[in-house]
Amino acid sequence: MTRILIVEDEDDIASVLVDYMRHAGYDTERVADGESALARMVDDPPDLTLLDVMLPKLDGMAVLEQARRHTAHPVIMVTARIEELDRLLGLELGADDYVCKPFSPREVVARVRAVLRRGMAAAGPPPDPPRLQLEDTQWRASLDGRPLVLTRLEFRLLQVLSRQPGRIFSRGRLLDLAYDDTADVTERAIDSHIKNLRRKLAAASPDHDWIRSVYGVGFAFEAPAT
Ligand code: CA
Repeated sequence: MTRILIVEDEDDIASVLVDYMRHAGYDTERVADGESALARMVDDPPDLTLLDVMLPKLDGMAVLEQARRHTAHPVIMVTARIEELDRLLGLELGADDYVCKPFSPREVVARVRAVLRRGMAAAGPPPDPPRLQLEDTQWRASLDGRPLVLTRLEFRLLQVLSRQPGRIFSRGRLLDLAYDDTADVTERAIDSHIKNLRRKLAAASPDHDWIRSVYGVGFAFEAPAT
């Protein structure tokens, strides 16, 4: 059974995480301070550690830094603030992913799955292809369960392109299909929206290029290989 170590000093949050992880079929263990976490990660590494940053005795960053000298098992860091997240990313501590509080437990489960899947991919069997989901009625998009923050127009472009994977759409055609009112929009504006869209998709799934640009012609949606 896959073992998840949950490092969290706040009991309420820890118990929610434990419940969700168990429900998702993982064996869980919880520790509430940095020193116990480090001992546990080094002595008997779990399959994945969910590591809170603000912890008694030793903070999550120090725990990860020291643990990394002994173990390479996947670690997802849990931060309390978005500004802290920026700093953590800059430090390159070797975390496999980051989750920011307040989080939805469901999202954390999705992240855990995705990180474990990446680990298994590195060990041999091919990875599951990234899954892009569009909820047309709510203008919401997600990649592997993680929400993508798109503008309405980016959503429309993605919707139009993804409905016919591989088909090349000219800028003019995209303009017609994605904009409600094309009166004062140029075809060049499409390029900048597509550029932003690609950047967001690339940030969420760096291993797959979702939108191919066909020089002088337009753009096509590339479905990941299954
Ligand atoms: Ca904490």
